[in-house]
Order: sequence, then C-alpha cells, then structure tokens
Amino acid sequence: MSVDTTTQTAPPFTATVPGTARIGANRELKRAVEGYWAGRSDRTALETVAADLRRESRRALVAAGIDSVPINTFSYYDQVLDTAVMLGALPPRTAAISDRLDRYFAAARGGPAHDGADSVAPLEMTKWFDTNYHYIVPEIGPDTSFALDATKVLAELAEASADGVVGRPVVIGPITFLALSKAVDGADAPLTRLNEVVALYADLLGRLAEAGAQWVQIDEPILVTDAADDLPGRAGKVYATLSAVAVRPAILVQTYFGDARESLAALAATDVEAVGVDLVAGGPESVVAAGLGDKVVVAGVVDGRNVWRTDLDAALATLESLRGSVGSLAVSTSCSTVHVPYTLAGEDGLDEVLRGWLAFASEKHDEVVALARGYANGRDGESEAFDAASAALASRAGDPRLYIDSVRNRLAALSSADWTRPDSATRRTVQDAALNLPALATTTIGSYPQTTDIRKARQALRTGAIDEAEYTRRMRAEIADVVALQEKVGLDVLVHGEPERNDMVQYFAEQLDGFFATANGWVQSYGSRCVRPPILFGDVVRSAPMTVEWIAYAQSLTAKPVKGMLTGPVTILAWSFVRDDQPLADTANQVAFAIRDETVDLERSGAAIIQVDEPALRELLPLRAADREAYLAWAVTAFRLSTAGVADATQIHTHLCYSEFGEVIGAIADLDADVTSIEAARSHMEVLADLNGIGFANQVGPGVYDIHSPRVPAAAEVTASLREALAAVPADRLWVNPDCGLKTRTTDEVAEALTNMVTAAHAVR
Ligand code: GLN
Ligand code: ZN
Repeated sequence: MSVDTTTQTAPPFTATVPGTARIGANRELKRAVEGYWAGRSDRTALETVAADLRRESRRALVAAGIDSVPINTFSYYDQVLDTAVMLGALPPRTAAISDRLDRYFAAARGGPAHDGADSVAPLEMTKWFDTNYHYIVPEIGPDTSFALDATKVLAELAEASADGVVGRPVVIGPITFLALSKAVDGADAPLTRLNEVVALYADLLGRLAEAGAQWVQIDEPILVTDAADDLPGRAGKVYATLSAVAVRPAILVQTYFGDARESLAALAATDVEAVGVDLVAGGPESVVAAGLGDKVVVAGVVDGRNVWRTDLDAALATLESLRGSVGSLAVSTSCSTVHVPYTLAGEDGLDEVLRGWLAFASEKHDEVVALARGYANGRDGESEAFDAASAALASRAGDPRLYIDSVRNRLAALSSADWTRPDSATRRTVQDAALNLPALATTTIGSYPQTTDIRKARQALRTGAIDEAEYTRRMRAEIADVVALQEKVGLDVLVHGEPERNDMVQYFAEQLDGFFATANGWVQSYGSRCVRPPILFGDVVRSAPMTVEWIAYAQSLTAKPVKGMLTGPVTILAWSFVRDDQPLADTANQVAFAIRDETVDLERSGAAIIQVDEPALRELLPLRAADREAYLAWAVTAFRLSTAGVADATQIHTHLCYSEFGEVIGAIADLDADVTSIEAARSHMEVLADLNGIGFANQVGPGVYDIHSPRVPAAAEVTASLREALAAVPADRLWVNPDCGLKTRTTDEVAEALTNMVTAAHAVR
C-alpha cells in the first residue's frame, strides 16, 4: 500500500506555521519589484532580493525551532495568481507576452501595448476571506485549458534543499482555487472544472515526490465558509482521489480563518495524513467530533492574524484537550503570519508596557515552538516562556487604559434612544428647508488629489524641516485651492479635500486615546502595497476635536455648504488590529461615541452636512451565513450611534464602496443615513434596483463615473449614467457624485471629470 509507505517515510513534525510574510522585514521586496517595474533595476537584482528573502525566512524558522518549514509561500505578487500560473490558467490576453515574469506582472497590474500587441487589462483583485489582504481573481473562460506548470514550486523546493532544508511545499488547493475564481465569457462556474484540476494536482504530487518532498501542504480555507454547495462532499471526494495517488508526499490539508466543521469529518474519512485547523477562530470540539484519531492534526492555537501575545497556558490546555482524539499533534499559528508585521525588534518607540503585550510574526514563531515543547515535555521545561506570557497577560488585564470609567459608564447607559433619529421624512423636511439644494445635487466623496506638495509637506513635518504652524499653513492653502476648484466647477455641496489625511483610519487613530501606531509594523495589502494598521489596545477616548478646524476653515471660504468628513466605527475597526479581550461590538460602540462627539462639535461649528464613511461595512461580514445577522446588527448600531447625536436639520451622509453590496443591502438601509453615496459605475446601477427591492426611501448618490481609472468620462457618458439611475430613483432622491474619493487622481483629471459631471447634472435637470 503506497499510502502506508508514504506515511512511514514522512517524518513527523511538532511545530510549524502555514506560511509566512514575503515582503521583507524592511519591505525589501516592495522596493525591488517597484524598481523593476519602473525600469530602475534589472531582473537579476530582483531575483537576488527574492532569493535572499526566501533564505532569510527559512533560516529564521529553523533558528526558532520550527521543524517543518513551509516553502513556496514566497510570491512576487500574490499566491492565488501563482496558483493560476501553476495550473496554466492565466487569461489568454496575456499570452502574447513571452517573458514569464512580465506576463505574470501584466496579469496582476495590466501591461502596456507593445510589439504591435494591445495593452493588457489586469485581472480583478478582491479581499482574501475576511482579512485585509487582497488576491488576484483568476478568470476561467470556456477556452481555459488547464495544464500543470510546476516550475515555481519545484525551484523553491530545490533551492531550500540546496540550503539544507527539506521544505514543505505549500499550494492553494483545487477547491479553494476554483471557488475563488471567476467565470468569464459565458463559462460555467469554475467549480464545474474540479475533476480536471484535481488531475493536475495528482500529477503535481508525483512531481513533488520525485523531487524529494516528504510533505505537501494544500490550503483549503474555502472549507470554513459556505461559499459553494456541498463543500464537505467535495472535500471528501477530492482528497480521497489525491490521497490515492501511488507515489506522493504525505498530505496536509490546511484550513484557516474559521471552523471547517463537517469538512473535517469528510477529510478524516480520506487517506490524507494531516489536517490543519484554526483553533483561534474555531473550537476544538469540531476536531474531536471529526474522528481524526489516525491523522496528524496541525493545531493553530497561536493567532496568526492579530498582534497579541498568546496566553500560552490557555493554548496548552486547548492542545491537551485534543490528546487522545488525534493521531498526533503539531503546533502552529492559526493561519499564515503574512497578516501580521514581521517583528517587534526595532519597535523601540513603543511604550515598554504595550510592547510586552505584543507578538508579531517572529515572536509568534517562538510561541509555537514553546507550546510544542510544552505539549511534548510538560510546561515545566518551558516555564520561563509560559511565566513571561502570563505576566504579560496580567499586565494587560490590569492596565488602567483598558478600563476607563467615563467610557464604561457611557456604554453601560446606552439605550436605543442613543442610536435612533426621528423618521427620515421628518428630517428631510427640515433639512430641505435649511439647505435649499437643487434636485440632482452634485457633490464629491471627500478626498481630492494628494499632490506632491502635500506629500512634501507631510515629509517635512516628519523630519522636522517645518513646524506644525507651517504645516497647517500649507494644508490650508491646499484646502483653499480645492474649495476654489469646486466653486469654479459649480458643485452644490463642497468638501475640504482631506489633504491632512494620508490614511484616514491612521489619521483618526493618531488622535484617539486607546490606539497606538508602530514604527515598522507593515503588512502586505496587495502586490507591493503595504499598510501599517494602528493597534487598538484600550478604551477609546476623544480628548479634543479632530477635524473641526479644517472643516470650519473650508466653510469660511465659501457660501456653499461644506460637508464634514469622518470615518465610521466599523471601518476604523476593520483597518486596525483590535483588542481581543472584549466583544468587537463593544469596541465598535466606543469608537462610535468618539465619532458622535466629533459630529456634535462639527455641527456646533456650523457644519450642516456631515459624512461618516463606512467603506469597510462589507469587509467584516462573517464567512458563515449563520453569523451574519448578529454582525450586521452591531455594525448598524455602531454606525447609528455615531451619527444620531445631531439635530434633525443636520444631514448625515455615508459612503460605501469596494464591494458587492447584495448581502448587506438591508443593513445599508438600516444605517438610516439621510444620503448614501455608493459605488455603482462599474456595477451599472444594479445596487439601485437592490435598494428599491427592499423599499429604501432615503436619498442616494450612486457613483456616476469610475474614479479608479485616469480616463475622464465625457459629459454624455455621465448623462447616460444619470438617466440609468433616474430609471430607478426619482430626481428628488438622487444625488450626483463620483464613485469614490479622488485622492489617487491628478488635479487636471479631477477638474475635467467634475466639470463634465456638473454639465451632465444640469442637462438632466
Ligand atoms: N472620504 C474618503 C475619501 O474620499 C472615502 C474613502 C473611501 O471610500 N475609501 O477618500
Ligand atoms: Zn469609496
């Protein structure tokens, strides 16, 4: 029996991670690929940086005591795109580019016209489950002919072996790959091609065995969702097939981001050797129930996607609860550490106390090893690590910044009156009288171009080349320019342009107590782009107004209304690392109170319209349908709490973008904003039909043109968009605005596009 032979030859392991970051502790890969794209450096330079990063990553894991090292977790751009390459599934439009790497980058980012060939449109990008990482969405058309191309994984395996490491190749599994792909050109759902693709994975297993791989990790995070029919059934079939391959490495099927439940039982019934589970998101109960008594269970007890130090005693107790129910056990992080910063080393600016509460990737790798040793030999041998962890935990639990009476009392007194405004028709009447706006009122979403001058000013403030006063002077000059531009174009409701905000969540986090920023806590968001999420560690207090001066200044320059511009509680949570010691709903309400206080101050300073953006409303939506209602309930409450403190005459706007809204459409209505601006240009106003379908009666501004492209829409195009919108929504409820903020565009593009938008609005009026 080949299966038994494989099991015997596959060496056991005790400590691992499902994957690691690849961008480099100092974002070396970002610089290298961007240099390559810009033509500043050559291929060899890029490949050298990449090889160095892979080597460092392997060595760091080995040095930490990780005894099964994942490989093929490197990526020049994205692991789903790498999988598309491995399966021969790049879109045909990239085929004319003969160079492998350039073809790959063209699929990711688009490519210019060259050698008489057309320019190449990039693949779409979307969020990786409920994380802030974005993957490239493969396109599967009727003509996609899958073919195995194992070049990358074999090269990384050989490279590791040459370095003395028998790596465990990691690939995304067939079910997850197809479930995350998109059918194009009338093709059937990609999952209908599962058998074909599984045959390639069977070939891959043979190739890997031949090349000396003892283990392979196949990632199937889709199994923690209910994104497709009968995932457990499919998992059972696919892994029965793959585990029946005669010559192959031992197989670890890895799940993460949730509880795979029935799929675990389905995998238990196959001959795969190991199953990886996320025991931070899910409990050990499913593992026990699944009957994994003859499998290796890779137990993800260290949180791979948040920054807190692990309660090692609690994690060890979880591991102990599995003893006897599993064949053997290896300790791991709950998911790849690509979702957290590299290391605390170098975070010298952090408050020492706070620093002690944290574990970034390299510290998490140490925690995994301490737990593996504790599980094998008892806590005593590891008491130093365990004691330090409990001391850190006690320090965190006892810190006064986590329990501020004024915040707690306010939360305790919360009642529905705090998040309920009088009915929207009543509000509408007083707002119309106060604002006196035309039908089809024109406005923008908030940001205007982040010009070189703005960036230079920010840089100069950071280095101390200019002081606060000079910085404020320069930002005011930008605001004055943006107000003048809007007046010239003839918009009805103006904004200040957000020049002072580089990243909006960071901007508010910097001004609120309860958050802190890292010096180097970068996390890959997509491709070469990284973000540095703030860490929300304590009770949230707004000690002073955050935006009032900027808005009031803009208002002083014009007779038209200027919208106050704030970010909503759900979005602030979604783009931060959040505390894990209380329900997210409570944290959201604390942030909501801070935003509410700001709306009240804005109103007092004369703002008649205030926008509270919630672009990330859809992002935190739970992966299992059954959990969604509860999430949406607290998300809606937090938003309403943040906006219900103003008078009826003050008009509340919100803005939503970046997503398919189908699943949250009811929640959008429940937000009860007076005006909702929403991305729609690319989805052709479908969202309006959906809103009508649930009887939404407030005002709405579907984006009439796409701001993601530098292309300036002609007035006629905007007119067509508007007429399309008018077919769904009457003029007295319809606003005219772009899809999203304008910060990524140039001033010239913006001036021209907005002029055309206003022309179209006037024509239709
Ligand atoms: N007001 C923000 C802006 O215009 C909204 C950002 C967003 O939707 N992501 O930039
Ligand atoms: Zn937006």
